Amino acid sequence: MRLKAIKITSRDGETFFKCPRCGKIFRYSKDYTRHVNKAHGHLFKK
Ligand SMILES: [Zn+2]
Repeated sequence: MRLKAIKITSRDGETFFKCPRCGKIFRYSKDYTRHVNKAHGHLFKK
């Protein structure tokens, strides 16, 4: 996983992870990682 998440902190102080490629927002970094591998994983395969 080489796609770096954009970290967003809400007004409540919660941290979210935003996918820089499609703009999806995830509550947990593991959900973000899973999304990148599933949706954008082909970008890293050669
Ligand atoms: Zn994405």
